[in-house]
Amino acid sequence: MSFARLAFHDAKPGALSGTCALCGATVTDGHPTAISDNFVEVDLLASPRSAVTCSPCTAALGNSPHVSPRASARPLGWRMFSLFARDGLPLEHASKAEKPRIRGWVLGAPYPERWGIHIADSGKKQRAPFAPVNAPSGRCALQLETVRVEYEPAALRVHLDVVERLYAIGVSKAELETGTVSVGRLRKLSAPEIRAARPLLHAVRCQSYTPIHALAVWLAQRENEDGDDDGDE
Ligand SMILES: [Zn+2]
Repeated sequence: MSFARLAFHDAKPGALSGTCALCGATVTDGHPTAISDNFVEVDLLASPRSAVTCSPCTAALGNSPHVSPRASARPLGWRMFSLFARDGLPLEHASKAEKPRIRGWVLGAPYPERWGIHIADSGKKQRAPFAPVNAPSGRCALQLETVRVEYEPAALRVHLDVVERLYAIGVSKAELETGTVSVGRLRKLSAPEIRAARPLLHAVRCQSYTPIHALAVWLAQRENEDGDDDGDE
């Protein structure tokens, strides 16, 4: 089962038969494929030349019931929202302003039913149809917009604690992304905290930006968000 089908199983059916261009499902209730020319990752498409898109993928590419709070009041695409889908339970969604909820979804895994999480970062392109679906109580993987992250919740929580402690002493997001934190800053930490932070910083420096570190930096709470998390609305 695709993430889109898990999330949008009740999507409005169409009348076309064929193979879904996005997820590759064989369907008899599809819609005409309407992928924008801005969609550059053609390699993600299961069937790039197909003129059919299944109803759940069509719904994922379409608008949510929510409208912009601005004067324009235009409908907000589902691409703007992070999604948490569980078999047999209502779809949950959250904007970037609701990071604590998204964090709760991620750290609450695994779940006793099939589940999947897609985190929208830029909100500009819909990658949810390509997010992984996890088996009940099995391994944990999610889609951080373009990045597939496999994680173990307990280890992620430890990683997050270190990242948040580093944020608390003034380390910037840029420093966390490169692993190069000044000695002067690290001296604000206690000896055990330095011991906890050192392997993480070393790993980031030597192996570049690992998916699990990208997820921890994304989920971490900062006192003063520095403007790159403003989202689109
Ligand atoms: Zn599909």
